[in-house]
Amino acid sequence: MNKKKHHLNFGSAFDYAPAPETTPVDLKKQYELFINGEFVAPESGRYFNSTNPATGKQLSRIAKAEASDVDLAVKSARRAYEKVWGPMAPSERGKYLFRIARLIQEKSRELAILESMDGGKPIKESRDIDLPLVAAHFFYYAGWADKLTFAFPGRAPSPIGVAAQVIPWNFPLLMAAWKMAPALACGNTVVIKPAETTSITAMHLAEIFQEADLPAGVVNIITGAGDTGTALVEHDGIDKIAFTGSTDVGKKIAQSVAGSTKKLTLELGGKAANIVFDDAPIEQAVEGVINGIYFNQGHVCCAGSRLLVQESIHDDFVERLTRRLATLRVGDPLDKNTDVGAINSKAQLKRIKALIETGKDEGAELHESSCAIPDDGFWCRPSFFTGVTPSHRIAREEIFGPVLSILTFRTPAEAVTLANDTCYGLSAGVWTDKGSKIFSIADQLKAGVIWANTFNRFDPTSPFGGYKESGFGREGGLQGLAAYLKQDHC
Ligand code: NAD
Ligand code: MN
Repeated sequence: MNKKKHHLNFGSAFDYAPAPETTPVDLKKQYELFINGEFVAPESGRYFNSTNPATGKQLSRIAKAEASDVDLAVKSARRAYEKVWGPMAPSERGKYLFRIARLIQEKSRELAILESMDGGKPIKESRDIDLPLVAAHFFYYAGWADKLTFAFPGRAPSPIGVAAQVIPWNFPLLMAAWKMAPALACGNTVVIKPAETTSITAMHLAEIFQEADLPAGVVNIITGAGDTGTALVEHDGIDKIAFTGSTDVGKKIAQSVAGSTKKLTLELGGKAANIVFDDAPIEQAVEGVINGIYFNQGHVCCAGSRLLVQESIHDDFVERLTRRLATLRVGDPLDKNTDVGAINSKAQLKRIKALIETGKDEGAELHESSCAIPDDGFWCRPSFFTGVTPSHRIAREEIFGPVLSILTFRTPAEAVTLANDTCYGLSAGVWTDKGSKIFSIADQLKAGVIWANTFNRFDPTSPFGGYKESGFGREGGLQGLAAYLKQDHC
């Protein structure tokens, strides 16, 4: 690319007046554990802070569950499984899930605000993407509760028992819904641990469970960091583990369950290729690439973090991307105009910055939006690297931030080789005007989800999951039920 073009056209978009969300929310000073249907203090009496990443200030105190609290939660889930939820008629279980889904819809505005305050994502995402999907997952799996024999013909599906679920901070409520809704629909009970930086909305979900009269112990929510997670997944009283998070922790969990009868599904990292051919609808592709990596600050395991663009359109594409990047609004997550919110935590910002430095050291060229960012809190300007080669760390490692790595290819075969040259395989995107090319490329990509002429679309009916080090097992859809059922032959 012509070097002179590098500092073109950055600068602010035309201004909008601030439009902050003003709906009041019931943010508590302190959150307890949710065990056996009640909010209880941790036995140790210890709490940790949850921060608002947009200000860097403390939002609330969260109970820290130790092994003894985890034990109470698992025992409560076991009792509920054996005495209430397991024996309950499936159609009755379905009614509870429908009720929960409706309550989530009723309270979705408040939940969206809390999600944005605690996690840093823009309100337009928490309100218009996360929360509708959270409710949709409960509605969808509620519908399956009494139809499981139709899902697996010739089998007699039965629940597995107590499911231990550990989730990350990028989609706190949505990950909770992905994990809980199918588990409950299949007749299992749950002990779930949200991520330590984003535990608040899970506790508000617990209030919804109480309001829905969900029997005590069917869902238990324990809060804490990695050691709480370890105590949960290593507990003898659980039958199944569902984990979403980093590949490193996923590997540790896989080692710890080896030799036990615990079932395991893992949803780990990704380094998705978004492949743009020269015959693609170009403006649509630019928008899709933007959505694929800057959406949710790039805190997305299936983010389109590698752009593979056909060499003949590289310069044109980069120019359009640069122009569009300059119009992204970075700032207050509670402002309805914000496109890119705050980085979830100081630690995550540090990881992102370190990889950006690595990219520069390796010789790739950084292009950064010149937008203003707030003084306090954790922020990263949307940016991309050109001149990236497949061996660069920024082409191989998950950055998990709003940073795109751009590579080029000449032929479809080369695009496939580059796209598959990764230890991950969670998702990919293909942009072309030619339908046959979509099918041929999609067939050759080793990725669990492939979007064509779109990116980052989710639906509860559609299975999601990885190849290779992105994990195993599927969540969502009919396939997502399989992880929560024993399937004996009739
Ligand atoms: P992480 O894997 O450490 O945390 C995910 C969840 O696992 C959290 O609830 C955490 O408390 C828990 N946990 C941590 N250690 C554990 C252990 N030994 N046993 C059981 N549970 C444990 O992820 P992170 O440190 O928050 O983020 C690090 C990197 O992970 C990110 O930079 C990103 O690359 C990746 N990540 C991926 C996803 C995803 O959706 N696939 C989500 C978040 C983070
Ligand atoms: Mn927080």
